[in-house]
Amino acid sequence: MERKDQTPAVVVGGGIGGMATALSLSRAGIPVHLLERAAEFSEVGAGIQVGPNVMRMLDALGVLAEIREIAFFPRTLTLMDALDGSHVTSVDLGPAFVERFGYPYATIHRADLHEVLVRACAASPLVRLETEQTVTGYDQTNDGVLVRTARGDEVPGSVLIGADGIWSTIRESLVGDGEPRITGHIAYRAVLPMTEIPEDLRSDSVVLWAGPNLHLAHYPLRRGELFNMGAIFHSDRFLEGADVYGDPDELHAKFSGVHPNVATLLGKIEEWRMWVLRDRDPDDRWTDRRVALLGDSAHPTLQYMAQGAGMAIEDAVVLARTLSASTPGEVPSALHDYAEERFSRTSRVTLTSRLFGQLFHASGAERVVRRDMLAHWSSQSAHQSFAWLYDGIDVVGARATSTEETVA
Ligand SMILES: Cc1cc2nc3c(=O)[nH]c(=O)nc-3n(C[C@H](O)[C@H](O)[C@H](O)COP(=O)(O)OP(=O)(O)OC[C@H]3O[C@@H](n4cnc5c(N)ncnc54)[C@H](O)[C@@H]3O)c2cc1C
Repeated sequence: MERKDQTPAVVVGGGIGGMATALSLSRAGIPVHLLERAAEFSEVGAGIQVGPNVMRMLDALGVLAEIREIAFFPRTLTLMDALDGSHVTSVDLGPAFVERFGYPYATIHRADLHEVLVRACAASPLVRLETEQTVTGYDQTNDGVLVRTARGDEVPGSVLIGADGIWSTIRESLVGDGEPRITGHIAYRAVLPMTEIPEDLRSDSVVLWAGPNLHLAHYPLRRGELFNMGAIFHSDRFLEGADVYGDPDELHAKFSGVHPNVATLLGKIEEWRMWVLRDRDPDDRWTDRRVALLGDSAHPTLQYMAQGAGMAIEDAVVLARTLSASTPGEVPSALHDYAEERFSRTSRVTLTSRLFGQLFHASGAERVVRRDMLAHWSSQSAHQSFAWLYDGIDVVGARATSTEETVA
């Protein structure tokens, strides 16, 4: 395969966004040097929902067959009322959905998705993966970037892609807009073997039990062998920090008035991991000449639409498409085009996710209105409402180059 530019693109961060970027760029013939601060490549966390728009991207990246083997394909997206246990609405994810959007809706263990991407990157001669490299800053000239690491290395690159997550160092240098917004919502997540869930409470759907200032979502993972649960609620504990093992007392206190089915499910979990949920107002300052942000560093979003990682994967495909169509001198304008193409869509996800959070956490009159509004919502109207998202984006270019590399 022809290497368009011998100086690699430097990608900072080896999460789902960074790995998808390395893979996507390599599929387009662009060499990549990825720097990750952790000692090994891994994903902390539980399950992740993957909409058909994201499955389309995974297909373009040439990993769909592996994803299919380890994913679960839920039957519906179902909203239940967490207080009285009544059914609010469901979106059927069966054949009509798959035909409409071209790809199924999947759930997948975060570590499984990440591992598929890492394996594909490791198999590419164009990708160099390096761990224990914390990026501290960078300089750029008209021809390239020099990325500084805590070890004292200076890593040269044709471009620098900051896929370093919500606490991005690259964003701090590029935009400098401080900490992401605290929402006051926290998430406790856990994954259990399916066998530990009482048979009458197992479900083959993505089920969200919505209550006042809280919800519990659950769905199967890994071909149905695992049961993923995420409990989200408005809390005062968010100041304690992110990603710590939480004390479930507050969780159980907040959920004290819920339907017995919800209480039984919550009671199955002994150890919960806590996430403090943050996002940012959309801001289009994603690029500066040869430097660009991608994924959570560019557009951190709340998880209420289950699309944060999906948007990062879409970013990766668009970035490879725009960069591979540019000459070395056109790189700054290619990065600008990438950001321009992605800004509106990712902003819509960020802003709509906030609205979904309000809808899920409604109380009083809002809860009653939610019930009445959604009571007659058909799967067909859901398909229409989500078409802007699930129809996905153009993969032309990425798909062609992916085939090219497979042949090579
Ligand atoms: C509760 C919850 C549920 C979610 N559910 C879904 C869902 O169902 N579907 C979905 O699509 N999304 C979901 N998301 C969102 C999704 O998890 C994120 O959007 C996604 O993981 C972001 O990926 P990223 O690669 O941009 O960032 P990260 O995953 O944060 O990766 C950043 C990487 O950069 C590394 N790094 C950071 N700084 C440096 C540095 N200075 N030098 C080197 N390396 C560095 C980090 O170690 C890390 O590996 C959810 C999020 C939460 C909190």
